[in-house]
This record gives sequence, structure tokens and C-alpha cells, in this order.
Amino acid sequence: MKLGERLRTGLRSPVLVLNRSYQPVRITDAKQGFSMLFEGRARALDASYEPHDFLEWIARGSSASDEAIGTARGPLAVPRVLLLNQYNRVPRAPLRLSRRHVYMRDAYTCQYCSAKPGVKDLNLDHVVPRAAGGRSTWENLVTSCRPCNLRKGRTRLEDSGMRLLKRPVRPSWSMALTLAAQRRRFREWEPFLVATVAAE
Ligand SMILES: [Zn+2]
Repeated sequence: MKLGERLRTGLRSPVLVLNRSYQPVRITDAKQGFSMLFEGRARALDASYEPHDFLEWIARGSSASDEAIGTARGPLAVPRVLLLNQYNRVPRAPLRLSRRHVYMRDAYTCQYCSAKPGVKDLNLDHVVPRAAGGRSTWENLVTSCRPCNLRKGRTRLEDSGMRLLKRPVRPSWSMALTLAAQRRRFREWEPFLVATVAAE
């Protein structure tokens, strides 16, 4: 990547923020990340997951593969992971219930037959059919291929002769964050994200 390009993309680049116990709490951008680092609210983890404060991070400089921002002293590498110095809770913000998020939770896999036909041939299936009072909730919606969706139709699970791969649940916070990181994620984030969410 050319230096100019590295500097332009640098400030918008996503940064994973961990609490003091190395649990992911959010994804921010490099601009916010640098101000947290500068104010001493967080330390930056290097490729070996060693934490560095602002001065140590500056002293490390940047390599050609890093995204970077321009400073008076030259390019400064964007940290991929920040470790908060104080905060030790895990936020409990709910993940919005949407078709795409249910697919992601289920790793784009039909929860009845394990097929992965691709997103265009997937459906949302109500485990307890709407006609029987089933609601659209995390606990009652599953990813289904079209044949299974048709086969199950309006029957209840216990009458259908079909089985769920797993019980559908509301995603945990770390799962939600993992889903949020699907669009762009970095090798350095992997140890902190839930591993079971397969890509599309
Ligand atoms: Zn199926």
C-alpha cells in the first residue's frame, strides 16, 4: 500500500477494544482509538499481544504492511487491538433482530438439514408457526433452506418429524460483536472473537 493511501484509510480503520480482562467491548475507529491511547485510557496490543502505552507505541514506528496515520514524526501504525486500562464490564447492548443476523448466527446453515445453499436460497423459519402463535424472536426463528421451509410449513416441530441442529438463542454480546466484525476483521482480532461464526 502506498503511504498516502495508508494515511487516508488509517483514521477510519476499525479497532477492536477489549476490557481489562481481554473481553471485546466494541469496535471503534482509529481516530477514537488514538485519542484513547493518547489520553492513557487504553494501551495498544502489538502482534504478540503485548500492551504498549502511547509513547511506547510511537517509539515502535510502523512497518510497510501497517495501516498508518501521518504525524510530525512520520507515519504511526494504527493499532488493531486496544486494551482499556479501567473499564472491566461487558456491555449488554442487544443485537438487532434481522434476517441477516439470524443467518449469521446460524452460519448460513439450514438448521434442519445442515444445507448451505447460499444466502439467496435461505429462508427464515418460525419453529412454532405463526399460525400457532409463534412469534418473531431470536428463540423462535431459524435459518432454513427452501425445501425444509416448505416441508415444515405450518406444522409444529414435534409433528414434523424434523429436528433442529441446535436450540435457537439470542446471541451473547461476544457473539454480537463477532457478527458486527464480519464485514471487516483482522487476524489480530481472532483470539478475542467467537470462532464458530462461519462466513457466508
Ligand atoms: Zn434444509
